[in-house]
Amino acid sequence: MPIHPVVAVDGTAASGKSTFSRSLAERLGFVYVSTGEMYRGVTWCVQERGIDPQDAAAVEAMIAATPIETTLRGGELAFSVGGIDPLPHVREARVNDGVSLVAKVSAVRRVLVAQQQRLAELAPLVMEGRDIGSVVFPATPFKFYIDADPAVRAQRRAAQGERDSVLQRDVIDSQRKDSPLQCPPDAMRLDSGVYRVDELVTQALEHLRQRGFSF
Ligand code: C5P
Repeated sequence: MPIHPVVAVDGTAASGKSTFSRSLAERLGFVYVSTGEMYRGVTWCVQERGIDPQDAAAVEAMIAATPIETTLRGGELAFSVGGIDPLPHVREARVNDGVSLVAKVSAVRRVLVAQQQRLAELAPLVMEGRDIGSVVFPATPFKFYIDADPAVRAQRRAAQGERDSVLQRDVIDSQRKDSPLQCPPDAMRLDSGVYRVDELVTQALEHLRQRGFSF
C-alpha cells in the first residue's frame, strides 16, 4: 500500500501525458515520474548490449542478470541499469522503435512495476505510463486517461523533431497480454487534442477536488 497519495496518468503515445503530468505535479507539489522513461532506459541498455528487442528470451536473461535501481533524487526519478544511467539517451529514435517490444516482456514489467510501487513510499507522486491506474496503483482514487486524435499525436512528435511510430506503439501496447494499455473504468478521460494543457489541468484539479483530494 502506498504511504503517499498517487495520481495515476495513463494514455496513448504522444498524447501529451508528460506535459500534463509535469504541470499537474507542479500544481500539487508532487514528484513527477515517467515510467515510460524506465522502459525506455531498459530498452537503450538492451540495444547497447547488442541484444535484439524482438528476442524476448535474451531480454529476459539480461533483466535477470542485471541490477536495476530506481529512486528519487532532488525531486526527480533517478534510474540505473547495471550501474549506468540510461536517462540521457532515452529519446533516441532506435529507442522509440524498440521500447514497446521490450515493454511486453513480462520479466521486465515485473521488475519495473515493483520498483514503481516502492517510489510511493518516498513521496507523493504524479506517475504517468500505460498501466499505472490498472496495475501499478489500482487502488488510487485519482486516475486520468489522456488521448487525442492520432493525426494530432503524430504531428506533435514530428514538431518535436522525433521519428516515432506512435500508432504502431499503441497497437503493441494495447494488444500485449501483460498489462495492456487501457482506460481504467474509474479514470477521468481527457482529450489533449481539444483542450490546452492549462485547461486540462484545471479540469483535473476539479476532478480531484470532487474525489475528496484536499490541496
Ligand atoms: O510514455 P512513453 O511514450 O515514453 O513510453 C514508452 C513506451 O514504454 C510505451 O510505448 C510502452 O511500450 C512502454 N510503457 C509501458 N508501460 C508503462 C509506461 C511505458 O509499457 N507504464
